[in-house]
Formats: sequence, C-alpha cells, structure tokens
Amino acid sequence: MRVAQLGERRVIEALLRTWTAPASFSLAGQVLVGPGDDCALVKHRTGAAWLVTTDQLIEGTHFEWSWSSPAQLGRRAGAVTLSDIAAMGGVPRYLLVSLGLPPGLGTAVVIQFYGGLRRLLTRHGVQLIGGDTAAAARFHAVMVAIGEVEPALAVARSGARPGDCIMVTGSLGDAAAGLQLLRRAGRRRTARAPARTLIRRQLEPTPRLKAGRALAQHRLATAMLDLSDGLMIDLDRLCRASGVGATLYAEQLPLSPSLVAYGRRTRQDPLHFALAGGEDYELLFTVRPAAAARCARLLRHLRLPCRLIGVITRTATGRGSSVRAPDGAAITVLSAGRLHPLRSFAAARRIREFEHFRRPAAGGRA
Ligand SMILES: [Mg+2]
Repeated sequence: MRVAQLGERRVIEALLRTWTAPASFSLAGQVLVGPGDDCALVKHRTGAAWLVTTDQLIEGTHFEWSWSSPAQLGRRAGAVTLSDIAAMGGVPRYLLVSLGLPPGLGTAVVIQFYGGLRRLLTRHGVQLIGGDTAAAARFHAVMVAIGEVEPALAVARSGARPGDCIMVTGSLGDAAAGLQLLRRAGRRRTARAPARTLIRRQLEPTPRLKAGRALAQHRLATAMLDLSDGLMIDLDRLCRASGVGATLYAEQLPLSPSLVAYGRRTRQDPLHFALAGGEDYELLFTVRPAAAARCARLLRHLRLPCRLIGVITRTATGRGSSVRAPDGAAITVLSAGRLHPLRSFAAARRIREFEHFRRPAAGGRA
C-alpha cells in the first residue's frame, strides 16, 4: 500500500508500532513523553526536562517561492518549530537547522532565509547552535528545537477529562484563507486589506509562547496542542490521546473580521476555514470548568483573546473507557441547537481534510 492510500495518521501509527523503548537502555525511564505529542519530554539530571521537537519546510509541499520572501520563510521556519514548544508549556532555548539546497539557488536567498530565522530566534531568546547543508532537488529546511520545562508543569495532549472546557487562542481559519488567496492570485495582486491580513496570517505565524507558558505555570491547561493541521484533525488528535470525545459549539468558533469579509465576498462559509483550515498555530487546550474564566483573564492580560468553543465528553462507544470509533466519530458539533456528528457536519460544508500525503499542492503540515 502506498502512503497516499494510508494517509498521514495511519502512516505515523504504522511507524510507532515498530518503535519500542529498549528496556535495557538505562535512560529509557527518562523519556517522560515519547513520540505522538508536540514534543518529546526528556528528563535530565537536574530534575528539569528537555523538550525536543523537529519540523520541516519543503518547497512545493509547504510553500512556493512566489508566495513569500526568503526572510519571511526563515521566520516561518522558526515560528512553526517553536510553536510545538509553546504547546507543551515550555521555554525554547536552542535551535538547529539543516538545509537542502538546489545547486542553482542564489546564495542571497539562503542568507536572507537565515536573517529571517535569526531575527525570530533573537526575539524569543533562542540560540542557533548548529545545522547542516546538502544539495537537494528542491529547497527544504529541517529544524530541531530544544526547550526546557519543569516535568510537573509540562502539558501533554493526553490530560483532557470529560467535563473539561475546550478553549482556543486567537482566531481560526485565517491562515487557510490566506493560503487560498496565495494559490489563486499569488503575492502581488492583494490590494484589499482583509486579504493582506489573511495572507500575513499564512506567511507569518506567531508561536504563542507566552500564552502556552502562562497556562502551564498556572497549571490551568489539562491538555494542549498547537493548531497546525486544523481544528478537525487536531481536536481529534487531542481526543484520541486523552481517550475522550468532544462537542464543539459551531457558533462560538472565533472568526476574524477579515475572514468573515473574505467569506462574504467569495461566497464561502467561514466555518469551513475554521474547522478544516490548518496552519493557524493557535493553541487548543482544555481546562477544568471552574478555571475557564481565570484562563480568559490570564490571556487577556497577555493581550491574546481566547474563546470557549466546546466541552470534552465521554466517547460515544466506550462510556468513559478509551474505546472509540475508528473514524473519529466521538466528536460532535452543536449548531443551531442540534447535534451533528463532526464528519457529517463537515461533509455538509464540503470540508476536505487538511492531511498530508493526500494533497498534491502546497500547504499543511504535521
Ligand atoms: Mg504541534
């Protein structure tokens, strides 16, 4: 079977089945969180722990040169990698970057890429400590970020419990609408202000480091991840990791004025982008109901809006056990007072999954 038939999630599951921590390896007990979360969590001797994560940007899969400047691309490479550290509640410290370079690529492009990356890292106090370069058919960058977190404060995807509130920072769907604009018109023909805002959200994501850290420090988030592949897919990941289901409140999903204006102008439902659109790099997290208001106050203090968008439920099939339907049927959507299974609700809105290996064009990431 080819990877395109299997899809990203099942490819990763197949890889993980071959992976077992060697029992004889004396440090195996130091890996507090292994594959399957935003970062690996590895305890070190001082009692603190390293967060280690890797990400990649591939020409043709994640970006086209005609869309962004090399500096913007470098900034983006850093931002999407640090976003995974934010999602665990950690502080990023170091980054390594390896580049695959087509021999015909101008050196100025590579230097500008580094410039954009370096400025982003400096802003967040992160040191570039190494990397590698090699010839490649298409440009690609592989980043490894290392951060720190107190093991007791790290927030994994697996801590959500029935009754927890589902919350999200910022607004949803902007980056996907920006991607659609770039695919349709390219970078140059974007005079309208809402379109420019949406494109900037696609090209210049912001890692929510302060918010992720604050949620962890105040022990507010019970589970957390960053929205890289869209609410539908990422909430499903959180639910699978926690062995729970969820109900989303469709009318509560945060839509930016730019996205609403774009939807009106192009006769598309903004909910389509909010549910299925990836690359917003906002934080999706769960909190105990009693902590929801405190959470909103804390993030308001950081000038980052957050919204309660749903509730964690028991799974439909397992009555609280971790048994769940294989197609992600444990997520429902409350819309206009009626409950819909996510799949049928999404299908009714012509939502196509934002999953790797199933789409030939640029956009979307793991
Ligand atoms: Mg992530």
